[in-house]
Amino acid sequence: MPNAILSVDGQGRIAGFETATDVDRRAGVEFYNGILVPGLVNAHTHLELSYLRGRIAPGGGFAAFAADMHAVRGGATPAGREAAARFCDARMRAEGVVAAGDVCNGATTFGLKAHSAIRYHNFIEVSGMTAVSAAEASRLAAQARAGGLAAGVTPHSAYALRDGLFRDTVAADAAGTSPLSIHFMESRAERELYDGGGPLAAWYARNGWTVDFAGYGSPAGRIAACIPPDRPVLLVHATFATGEDVDRMADHFGDRATWVLCPRSNRHIESALPPVQMLRRKGVRIALGTDSLASNADLSLVEEMKQLPDVPLDELLAWATASGAAALGMEDALGRFGAGMSPGVTLIEGIDWRTRTLTPQASSRRIV
Ligand SMILES: [Zn+2]
Repeated sequence: MPNAILSVDGQGRIAGFETATDVDRRAGVEFYNGILVPGLVNAHTHLELSYLRGRIAPGGGFAAFAADMHAVRGGATPAGREAAARFCDARMRAEGVVAAGDVCNGATTFGLKAHSAIRYHNFIEVSGMTAVSAAEASRLAAQARAGGLAAGVTPHSAYALRDGLFRDTVAADAAGTSPLSIHFMESRAERELYDGGGPLAAWYARNGWTVDFAGYGSPAGRIAACIPPDRPVLLVHATFATGEDVDRMADHFGDRATWVLCPRSNRHIESALPPVQMLRRKGVRIALGTDSLASNADLSLVEEMKQLPDVPLDELLAWATASGAAALGMEDALGRFGAGMSPGVTLIEGIDWRTRTLTPQASSRRIV
């Protein structure tokens, strides 16, 4: 909306907006050269991995990344890890992020998030190809909720949990209402595993881990068989998802599924980008995430948008606001400039107005 005036009260509530031709002559109006959008939503990150920035070399492919993660995890003091996470939380806030879907394997970040201005949904992640249970994750989720945080347990993916563990994790929320966040089709190896080949299958075989879920036929087949259709689900990455996978998930979940794209992480790990035009053609809901600093240089959503120059800017901005809020079940409070709502106000700067695209210098910052 060109020449718009957005009115916000002292508490950050949206009072309304109007367009005016005399914007620069009005009293009490602050002028910004850019696009004002509701606060941004980072639909997929791992704040607790912030200490891994620069620790894993890019381009090694997915199995190498997973093995590297295994090796470097735990290589910092608890205080060092918390400080790195705290820095990222503050920086996201300064960049105008108001909410995030944050994957957790431990409690390192609970304290800082309880006092953060960013609203987090905490996905307590379960994975395991050995005889582990979902009990520890359920205990962590209860601990997060006791600290005032939104939290639920979630399976890491359709390739890193035994059959029974995947089902137990989905069933851990008896009400079945908390969203699940599943790394989905992040690598070719994920589908190959179901056919008994590829680098993940080789890695599992070396460790003596049995694959007892290949009978579902594919990751999408497993998800459809094990997760009730009324459960909200975030399908993260989709780098190697096919049209058939997308149709299968849409048939099963309807509009309860959100496809969360993290293009810079995909470039870092697999030197690949998600099939964004195919997803757009299918008309599914798309949101944006940054993944963690293990596979990204920073947690900037504008930098993610720059990876997708063929997507109209208005659409990218909707993915980073309204779609992310809907994915995390926060659409009543965040993601749009509704009168009386407090969704935050973020400025996107560095627009090429002629082409309505982001310039290489584009960035975001918090206004309200
Ligand atoms: Zn992730």
